[in-house]
Amino acid sequence: MPAIILNGTEIRKEILAEIRQEVEAIKAAHGVVPGLVTILVGSNPASLSYVSLKVKTAHSLGFKEIQDNQPEDISEAALLGLLDQYRRDETIHGILVQLPLPPHIDEKLVLNAIDPDKDVDGFHPVNVGRLVIGGSEVKFPPCTPAGIQEMIRRSGVETRGAEVVVVGRSNIVGKPIANMLLQKGSGANATVTVVHTATRNLAAHCQRADILIVAAGVPGLVKPEWIKPGACVIDVGVNRVGETVSPTTGKTVAILRGDVDFEEASKIAGFITPVPGGVGPMTIAMLMRNTLNSLKFKLQI
Ligand code: NAP
Repeated sequence: MPAIILNGTEIRKEILAEIRQEVEAIKAAHGVVPGLVTILVGSNPASLSYVSLKVKTAHSLGFKEIQDNQPEDISEAALLGLLDQYRRDETIHGILVQLPLPPHIDEKLVLNAIDPDKDVDGFHPVNVGRLVIGGSEVKFPPCTPAGIQEMIRRSGVETRGAEVVVVGRSNIVGKPIANMLLQKGSGANATVTVVHTATRNLAAHCQRADILIVAAGVPGLVKPEWIKPGACVIDVGVNRVGETVSPTTGKTVAILRGDVDFEEASKIAGFITPVPGGVGPMTIAMLMRNTLNSLKFKLQI
């Protein structure tokens, strides 16, 4: 039987509808809405398009949203000053700084200066620590891993006691999702193995995975014969493998492939995410949820 496709675009729609409802209820009961500021330095076209998508989504959910565009030559001190201003702003619950920053600005210094209680990307060391401790300590799980966990949860796949293999140990995907799934609690409680470039027998590890999460950034890395029949395969990889002309818009667009051979793998897996349209769309939904949760933490509801 072919695998059930986990459609990230559809799941995102459901989550955004849930958030919209909650925002309306909080506004009616407490007279406040979540506030999200996105700081963009310079005018890199890719960054501009990511920022406008975040701002548009926040707006569509009834959030207060600010797109704070700063000139390319803003000083590091001025940017830090801005972060302090938003830290003190009671109407703002989430602060994002779009990367990359210009070379004269120390990216790490800036990201670590974001108030951890408004760090809705979840990359501040305080939030990484909270994630590792787990339970009620967790405030802002990073958005892509949170999207992965949510997809698994909504698929109905049992995580308790499951063998999970995570391919990749980056700070933005591999390490956080491994930490999240090994916590004691619902949607987790798995036995987690993390594999990487120094792993001796990648295939053997993947073959025993009930849930296989692949975030390597290597197109077609995972071969169909590495997949356990019926497994849940989450392909995080987004790899540009060429270009084509879109038949609808006539524009040149990138051809994207995941880290898993989708066609063949979907004949063996029980559940699988496509690329594009799988994990990708989930990230922004989780960002919005983190921002809503930030307001809820403040209201203690
Ligand atoms: P990254 O920082 O480059 O990390 C890749 C990880 O995969 C590293 O830990 C690396 O091992 C491991 N790896 C690479 N080649 C391998 C191989 N042949 N065998 C075993 N392990 C291997 O990448 P990332 O930022 O985590 O992103 C991974 C992929 O996910 C990329 O395609 C990225 O575009 C995509 N992504 C998608 C989303 C989204 O959809 N929202 C978000 C984030 C990332 P070492 O540590 O040993 O080098």
